[in-house]
Amino acid sequence: MRLFLRGFAGYEEARVGRVFNQRRPDRYPAAVLLAESADDVAEGVRMAGERGWAVSVRSGGHSWAAWSVRDNALLIDLEGLNSLAYDEETGIAVAGPAVRGGRELAPFLTERGRAFPGGHCPTVGIGGFLLQGGQGWNSRSKGWACESVVAVDVVTADGSALHCDAQQNSDLYWAARGAGPGYPAIVTAFHLQTYPAYPHLWHDTWTFALDDGEALLSWMHELLPKLDRRVEPVIAATRLPNIPLDESVEHPGGTVLLLHTTVMVSNPEEAEDLLRVFDSCPVPKLGHVRGETSLAEESAAQDEQSPEGHRYAVDCTWTDAPADRLAPPLLRLWRELDTTHSFSIWYGWAPHRPLPDMAFSVEGNVYIATYVVYQDAADDEKYRTWVHERTAAIAADGGAGVYLGDTDFTGRQDRFLSDANYRRLEEIRATRDPDGRFVSYLAADPARLNVHG
Ligand SMILES: Cc1cc2nc3c(=O)[nH]c(=O)nc-3n(C[C@H](O)[C@H](O)[C@H](O)COP(=O)(O)OP(=O)(O)OC[C@H]3O[C@@H](n4cnc5c(N)ncnc54)[C@H](O)[C@@H]3O)c2cc1C
Repeated sequence: MRLFLRGFAGYEEARVGRVFNQRRPDRYPAAVLLAESADDVAEGVRMAGERGWAVSVRSGGHSWAAWSVRDNALLIDLEGLNSLAYDEETGIAVAGPAVRGGRELAPFLTERGRAFPGGHCPTVGIGGFLLQGGQGWNSRSKGWACESVVAVDVVTADGSALHCDAQQNSDLYWAARGAGPGYPAIVTAFHLQTYPAYPHLWHDTWTFALDDGEALLSWMHELLPKLDRRVEPVIAATRLPNIPLDESVEHPGGTVLLLHTTVMVSNPEEAEDLLRVFDSCPVPKLGHVRGETSLAEESAAQDEQSPEGHRYAVDCTWTDAPADRLAPPLLRLWRELDTTHSFSIWYGWAPHRPLPDMAFSVEGNVYIATYVVYQDAADDEKYRTWVHERTAAIAADGGAGVYLGDTDFTGRQDRFLSDANYRRLEEIRATRDPDGRFVSYLAADPARLNVHG
């Protein structure tokens, strides 16, 4: 392991070099520890106790708000904990928290004929992704990725190593599925239930004019409850020039709407059957492409939309508002997108069953998330204010709370767990981390954590 104290060589790179968002925070840990093993993690936690430091954690560095970078804490960076193993008999994979879902876990499993509902962006670390829920490929059918976590190995606030599952240390297992950055321990390995890989991934992508947004939303809200769970529909408001356009159709300029749907299936006929429902779309299209794709191609498209080396301001909300009430504030937001890479999504989630007993507990009919992507530090305040105000306007009517993965509570706070689960998590935190060794949620107003509205 290596330790970088504030003020010494290598500290700055260790502090923020692995933070995806170029909008680097003005927060300074006392030191950064690059851990190579669970033993290093335990030693780091004990060292922090001796020196009176709090502890923060980094796996993949993709938290938009850079939750891992906290003032005067010991930041334990888990980049070295990236091993992968697979047991053929149980179908369980054991993965280190810094394993990147699309870049490493997915190809590792594909080689073995297996799959896991990993994140859409290939470079997200499974650590932060799984702890906060995990919205991954095929999630409408397979559920939140954290539902496929069968156990976690952790280091606790006193430096002990524990195995946690439904039978032993079940409180820490319960919290590991949804607590996100409020988790009162450090996960050193995730035990993941994998599934047989589907041989085919299809996409169906329609391009529409922004002016037809209201009609499109109205139609999609009508269709959503009837859609097969294997169908994953996303409307993306995008300004990227490279979009499907029918022959002789010209890009209208500015923002367009892509209805991008993916299905994982056993054969092409099944894909055709599942996607046929979109052929009756009453909204005039500018372009349409349907056919076989692959996780690698879809991941490349994600990378193009969310490039590295840019500044990001992000917010999200679940909403149960009907289309006619959602459309005005959402279309206003979509019309105001103004940089090439900025985008915003409508994701048709439509919860259809009670969630299992785990910390994760807030979802809604539709997920709206907006990603402002820009280059100039002088625009930070403008874009942060804009994305939080516009998202708040959507949430004001029918908002059901947020998904931790696309939040920044230093800019806007909302509920992310049910009241009962938040209370239970606080009890677990008080028992497992009585001295508050782990930093917990980063919020402008800690007193308003998990307050709805
Ligand atoms: C380009 C991009 C695309 C994304 N796409 C998706 C997506 O498709 N689906 C989705 O659900 N989310 C998505 N996200 C959100 C992402 O899942 C979250 O930001 C997540 O927290 C990132 O995990 P990480 O380990 O990379 O981040 P980090 O910044 O390393 O971790 C975030 C926080 O989680 C906690 N944490 C992380 N690891 C551990 C651990 N081992 N033990 C204890 N606590 C830990 C810590 O509090 C840490 O500060 C995306 C983010 C980006 C930047």
